[in-house]
Amino acid sequence: MKTRTPLIAGNWKMYKTPPEAAETARAVAAAAAGAAGVEVMIAPSFVCLTETAKALAGTGVFLGAQDIFWETEGAFTGEVSGPMLKAAGCSHVIVGHSERRQFFGETDESVNKKTRAAIREGLIPVVCVGETKAEREGGLTLKVLDRQVRRGLEGLSLETVVVAYEPVWAIGTGLTATADQAQESHAFIRSVLGEAAGKNVAEGLRILYGGSVKPGNAASLMAMPDIDGALVGGASLSAESFGGIIRFGG
Ligand code: PEP
Repeated sequence: MKTRTPLIAGNWKMYKTPPEAAETARAVAAAAAGAAGVEVMIAPSFVCLTETAKALAGTGVFLGAQDIFWETEGAFTGEVSGPMLKAAGCSHVIVGHSERRQFFGETDESVNKKTRAAIREGLIPVVCVGETKAEREGGLTLKVLDRQVRRGLEGLSLETVVVAYEPVWAIGTGLTATADQAQESHAFIRSVLGEAAGKNVAEGLRILYGGSVKPGNAASLMAMPDIDGALVGGASLSAESFGGIIRFGG
């Protein structure tokens, strides 16, 4: 039996204005109110954080950001620091999402610096890893995951870290890893975390699955022994479908 509390996290990417985010956040909080034993987090864009924090106040739904810069302040135009995220009401932050790796030059090294900054500020980092289609087809999945986890988390204390396994070929494509494919990667990631941080720590860490999660496939994914929740893009944009995932399809 799993003892880790599941986390269902929504990544709203570059969607929604502040009023739209606040409205959906209120609806998500209503949908989450009936779900026991599961944590819920939503990550709107930076400009929506303050409005969303107000909408979520007192609801128990956590607020996350989609990125963080590793310095606390300074001349870094366009960047947002950990203390700023905390002040805006965030408890979580997504780090190293594949879209940031693909379009904005994020590397395992920058992921490491950002994760370190999140931990330093007391934010829970949700660190994304995952192979591309070509890497999977080339039989490189486990090698890629090994590198991303080791380098991304090297030298950090991992107690509060959440890892999200997001096969790049499954993000926003409608293709989902089968529950068995996901479980294989999750078990492997947990074994790498065990080597990095010790078996006891690794057993307590949550590893989320991400990639076209929908109400209809949430239950079979969540039934797997090493899948501890979901990082959800498209289906988190509506409280109705996100609510279905929060209830694991029920
Ligand atoms: C994501 O953006 O992290 C994601 C998993 O997206 P989607 O659910 O749309 O595939």
